[in-house]
Amino acid sequence: MKRRLFVAGTLAATALPWPQASARAAGAADDAYSAAIADLVAANHILAHLGVVDGFGHVSVRDPRDPSRYLLARSMAPALVTADDVLTYDLASAPLDARGRASYLERFIHGAIYRARPDVVSVVHSHAPDVIPFADSSVSLRPVYHMASFLGAGVPVFEIRDAAGPASDMLVSSNALGDALARTLGAANVALMRGHGMVAVGTRIPEAVFRAYYTMMDARLEGQAIGLGGRVTYLNDAEAAASTKTNTNILLRAWELWKRDYGAIDAR
Ligand code: MN
Repeated sequence: MKRRLFVAGTLAATALPWPQASARAAGAADDAYSAAIADLVAANHILAHLGVVDGFGHVSVRDPRDPSRYLLARSMAPALVTADDVLTYDLASAPLDARGRASYLERFIHGAIYRARPDVVSVVHSHAPDVIPFADSSVSLRPVYHMASFLGAGVPVFEIRDAAGPASDMLVSSNALGDALARTLGAANVALMRGHGMVAVGTRIPEAVFRAYYTMMDARLEGQAIGLGGRVTYLNDAEAAASTKTNTNILLRAWELWKRDYGAIDAR
């Protein structure tokens, strides 16, 4: 890692004499990496506290030092993740620094989405039960709630049988299955996974966490609204687009609160 940072720094050092510029560039890369690790650890704890993940589920971030890599905890419960548990993966989801530590069976979800979506910087995979009725039935998940207006862009459903046949263990446990999931996701912010859960993506960790949480909440509310038995009114396309634009600018308010209250390593 040190060697690569050093080389990146010298390439960037056109305006300042070496070694000052290279040291500055390497320092900035180190700072971005440290910030990404801190936010990734916090995201694991926040998602666990909010009930988006439990013993299972995971969150990753693209490596700010190298967009052809991503950072993801070793195979463990999200609430227990510390900075020392974060591994670096290439986009084929091979761990580069595992040193004997086990990887999540479904890490391929992350690598495949980062390969397919250069705009994506963070990916959440969750088994939140609230979304399952919409993954398993003909009723579509749609925004009934302005905090989930990003769902107005459409919520595709991944059918693993189409890629893995009728007798899989339901897990996205290979690059081929990851690619199939990424194709289903397309340009959307969220995809449901039939019989399994969901993935939510974002251009930064707080956005992916925000989308994962409010997808779960919208599913809960839509199910309740349908259960009342009357006519359900959803956000229309214009409302969804306008609300998403507004929420994108203010979602850090939620992140800062969640990080303060739930982000610490010893949070319960
Ligand atoms: Mn899973």
